[in-house]
Amino acid sequence: MGKSRRYRLRLDEVKVQAFQARLLAWFRRNGRDLPWRRTRDPYKILVSEVMLQQTQVERVREYYERFVQEYPTVQDLAAARPARVRESWEGLGYYARARNLHAAARTIERRHGGKVPRRLEEVLALPGVGRYTAGAVLSFAYGEPAPILDTNVRRVLSRIFASRRAASPAGGERRLWALAEAVIPAGKAWAFNQALMDFGATVCTARNPGCSTCPMRRLCAYYAGAAS
Ligand code: SF4
Repeated sequence: MGKSRRYRLRLDEVKVQAFQARLLAWFRRNGRDLPWRRTRDPYKILVSEVMLQQTQVERVREYYERFVQEYPTVQDLAAARPARVRESWEGLGYYARARNLHAAARTIERRHGGKVPRRLEEVLALPGVGRYTAGAVLSFAYGEPAPILDTNVRRVLSRIFASRRAASPAGGERRLWALAEAVIPAGKAWAFNQALMDFGATVCTARNPGCSTCPMRRLCAYYAGAAS
């Protein structure tokens, strides 16, 4: 998908498969039950991902439920007055997100027949949608093997696969996107990407990662370095 296909990675396939299996097993036992995980409606997933761009999960919960009740379809949101949408967003902050989401709904209605598009370039062309949000929408709504790379995922992948020092920050970023794509197991993009996010948010945290009980210990370059 996109640029990452052009980046050459040398990965240990055995390690990748072990990582996939352990992460999915961990997720089956520990995955968080979040309202936007109970739907495959691409519009509702887009709403949740835009809300999550700058707001914590717990805070998004209450707003998400209320927002999708008020605007249950992309058509409802597209038809709403801008002032009304802003009111509905009141309290979540970063109002540019509400404006962009509203504009995205109108674009979806006008250019895509009311359906959130399934092609990366088309999702990326929606107002307020960057590469992370596009990957989240494609993998969570359509099961596409689209990578996601936020702070949590970046940390998990860097620690386990020990990102080599890149020649430039842009090179390091390209490698991580390529890695985030290469490790997605076939047919399991939804669970795997959700698992990566939860694992980074709750186990492999920035400070005090839970290494002592982590199922990745034997695979993890960071742990091996710390233990040696
Ligand atoms: S062993 Fe520690 S650093 Fe490695 S993945 Fe687990 S929690 Fe993260």
